[in-house]
Amino acid sequence: MWYFVSPEVVYGRDAVTRLAQLEGKSAFIVTDANMVKLGFVDKVKEQLSKAGIKSTVFDGVEPDPSIETVNKGASEISRYGPDWIVALGGGSVMDAAKGMSAGYERPDVKVEEINPFTPLGPRKKAKLIGIPTTSGTGAEATWGMVLTVTAEQRKGSFGCRECTPDIAIVDPAFALAMPPDLTAQTGLDTLTHAVEGFTSTWKNDFSDGLLLRAIQLVFQYLPRAYKDGHDMEAREKLHNAACIAGMGFINSMCALAHATGHALGGVFHTPHGRAVGLFLPYTIEFIGDAREELWAEIAYSIKLEVPKGKKAAPILAQAIRELARSVKEPLSIKETGIPSDSFNNCIEKLVDNAMMDFQLVTTARPPNSEETEKFFRYAYDGKSIDF
Ligand SMILES: [Zn+2]
Repeated sequence: MWYFVSPEVVYGRDAVTRLAQLEGKSAFIVTDANMVKLGFVDKVKEQLSKAGIKSTVFDGVEPDPSIETVNKGASEISRYGPDWIVALGGGSVMDAAKGMSAGYERPDVKVEEINPFTPLGPRKKAKLIGIPTTSGTGAEATWGMVLTVTAEQRKGSFGCRECTPDIAIVDPAFALAMPPDLTAQTGLDTLTHAVEGFTSTWKNDFSDGLLLRAIQLVFQYLPRAYKDGHDMEAREKLHNAACIAGMGFINSMCALAHATGHALGGVFHTPHGRAVGLFLPYTIEFIGDAREELWAEIAYSIKLEVPKGKKAAPILAQAIRELARSVKEPLSIKETGIPSDSFNNCIEKLVDNAMMDFQLVTTARPPNSEETEKFFRYAYDGKSIDF
């Protein structure tokens, strides 16, 4: 028995007005200080007040949020006692809010113990709404939470399907504030979700169509949104793509690019989208023949020509490198600015982190630790995978 889990998705311009239709008394808004500064929190409060819902704001979510932040938010929510929790921000905010929501519902369960095999039960105290302000993680549609385990210097993936938000509000107006580099990184994150979700060992009929469409949207609209942040059509399409990819991959899971991306981010704080986007072409090359038909299907869907007798994997990997280059993202770990001595000093930690990551389970060709180290070294130098 398998599940396809998804929130109610409200999308398009003015989707935020969905908040004015809510029923309830009070809402707890989880966000970060930048969202307050941009006036986005006021926009949300305004809609909530139209519904007669009073609200309070927790704006203390940091990038790569820690379990401590989640616990702090959960105890503030318990004191306030809302019937809605509204997460407004990027993936960090939404992941933290999922943890806080779980902590509010089930104070008897530690957030770091939440996993797909221990159901939490339905939300009874407050429903959760995700409003993304970046077009990448798709966290508004997923149950996963990537949280920092401070003491162990690593990022951990937690969550179970009941952590999925009840409603996702995908309003492109909230994506307009992203600077070009963030647009590029989050767009590559969407692409990585879509490519990995389409080729993982848990791929399925329900996710496949969503993921292919997301790949097409990123190839078509990322260069446009990068060039002109006020290109509303491109912004809207990428915002949709992120959510669509989120709905897809959370039901089929990611793979090696996410395992290695989480590892790099945990040690060097490389932004998530930059890290996973960097590893995506190497992942395609490494998995290679194990998914050849699927690489060809992706290539066909984005009108990439694969000459007869040639393999699709290297051609697709090259197209992704060209896309990343067109939005000025690094193609190797070295290009991210990590000096070789720091990299070499941390290689063991990187390999350990990657090998512990759940995403390796769903990788079509899971590497052993020797191969993982070699993979990191090739990615450091920008060498195509040939093993
Ligand atoms: Zn991701």
